[in-house]
Amino acid sequence: MANGVTETSVLIAGGGPVGLGLAVDLGRRGVPCIVVERNDGVIRHPRATAENARTMEFFRRWGIADAVKNAGAPPDFPHTVLYVTNLNGFEIARFDRAAHGGKQAAETSPERPQRVNQLWLDPILQELAASLPSVSLRYGCEFTAFIERDDRIVASVTAGDSREEIAASYLIDCTGIRGAVRRSLGVEMEGRAGLDYNLSIFFKLPELWTYHDKGKAALHFFVDANGIKRNLIQLDGRELWRFGVCDQTLYEHPELADVGTLLAEAIGRPVPFELIGVSPWTAHDLVATSYGTRRVFFAGDAAHLNPPDGGFGLNTGMGDAVDLGWKLSAVLAGWASPGLLASYESERRPVAARNVRQSTENHLRAAHMAIEPTIAEDSPAGAAARGALGDHIRRVQGRTFISDGTALGYVYDGSPVICPDGTPPPEDTIMEYHPTSRPGARAPHAWLADGRSIIDLFGTSYVLLRFGSEAPSADPLAAAFRQRGVPVRVESIGDPATSALYEKRLVLVRPDGHVAWRADAIPERPDRIVDVVRGAAVAAR
Ligand SMILES: Cc1cc2nc3c(=O)[nH]c(=O)nc-3n(C[C@H](O)[C@H](O)[C@H](O)COP(=O)(O)OP(=O)(O)OC[C@H]3O[C@@H](n4cnc5c(N)ncnc54)[C@H](O)[C@@H]3O)c2cc1C
Repeated sequence: MANGVTETSVLIAGGGPVGLGLAVDLGRRGVPCIVVERNDGVIRHPRATAENARTMEFFRRWGIADAVKNAGAPPDFPHTVLYVTNLNGFEIARFDRAAHGGKQAAETSPERPQRVNQLWLDPILQELAASLPSVSLRYGCEFTAFIERDDRIVASVTAGDSREEIAASYLIDCTGIRGAVRRSLGVEMEGRAGLDYNLSIFFKLPELWTYHDKGKAALHFFVDANGIKRNLIQLDGRELWRFGVCDQTLYEHPELADVGTLLAEAIGRPVPFELIGVSPWTAHDLVATSYGTRRVFFAGDAAHLNPPDGGFGLNTGMGDAVDLGWKLSAVLAGWASPGLLASYESERRPVAARNVRQSTENHLRAAHMAIEPTIAEDSPAGAAARGALGDHIRRVQGRTFISDGTALGYVYDGSPVICPDGTPPPEDTIMEYHPTSRPGARAPHAWLADGRSIIDLFGTSYVLLRFGSEAPSADPLAAAFRQRGVPVRVESIGDPATSALYEKRLVLVRPDGHVAWRADAIPERPDRIVDVVRGAAVAAR
């Protein structure tokens, strides 16, 4: 504290998963940061459950992938998705998702998508952030206002009756839907607010699957003549569940929810249950029109809001945190130009727009599915309606539940800190991921001889990969990096399959694991590559 003002490098407003993820990324780089969270940090109502493979790769980098996999449901609990009239009624469609969950690696990633609710995920992130010496977590502390100066921001925070000023080089808005910092700058969200209104019901019922004959599943969707407006999500593999109802009246008046009747309708018989809590929420299709200023940036739900169909909110936000972490650290360390931070918006806003669009398509496709009035009837007409709907669901809904292309295949095309190589952008696929080392893409996974994944090499510095015995010397490029004080490591990879996967003999990977440049030879002016990737060729805001 100096002159009554607390000093730090980065002030993070909001300690949800994205604020905590950013604090972890910064803390691992030794960057001083303070997280102010107005609540006590205890998750009382479950929201996000689905972590995609990319988020799991970030957790692997941070050393918590195993802790996450050991939390929530046991690894052998099925990730099955079921569509039924009710759980003692008719099954309409099923997705088994055998490639999700468990502790084995996937083919295209050392990690698989997992289902671990924030009930367990947030405490893991909190514990890790709190263990990092440069991170300070302050609960019961609310961000209220700030001013931005040329050289820093000064924010006001309150804790109980006390008020404090915090000066920082950067302020990051991670306050979720409140967007406390974004709104105070007058930055709007564009898109559609209020797609529909929902009530989430959190309850306990041990081994609910013993009350029906459809077996264990992770997600259940209930179909009736009015549409698919109710769902049931298993959380811990034992007894904790979240029931969702799309209903504006219940959203506005949760006290009217007759939980016993709602559950009896879904399960097809009355069941004993213990209500833990209810929480109304709204589905939005929104992206902020800008991602910040020179010293202020928005991340996570403060920057984008999507319907949960497909599970992209937390996952997209974690990508924001990872993109910001190394850039803030690099600019604060002095080896990157402030232009590197300007690329945060160029890289992450298009990814948010893409993921929000895909979530909304998933949401509307499910909401507008034509359902015959006979769907639940035990009659030939009912059987025909269920057969046709099941075929339709199997054909169109897989992309809501399996989206490795979305998770791993985003490319920072057009980023000012990536050196394009003139190759055309790959097709943007949803369900399947197609590896590429094209500049801007996530550097693909392959196993190394020592049992690590090649992506385990990335995270702290730039890594210049040399592939095959014919690879040219990396020395001129490495020397250009060192001349500008930019941390770089050279790694030589001999394995022919990995060399073929990476396509070029030299591939430069950034500290976030994205390819920044590739070629078969070092150009005459390697210093120009260094200046592009460290943001020196980009105008700061
Ligand atoms: C029903 C439902 C299911 C979902 N399922 C998934 C899923 O499976 N996968 C997925 O990826 N996403 C899912 N999401 C979305 C996911 O929950 C959010 O995207 C995610 O929580 C966003 O994290 P965040 O840290 O940006 O914001 P939040 O989690 O909202 O955290 C923001 C934090 O900021 C704090 N805060 C607010 N104002 C202030 C202030 N002035 N000062 C200090 N602190 C402040 C809040 O208390 C809060 O803790 C789901 C959402 C819902 C509603």
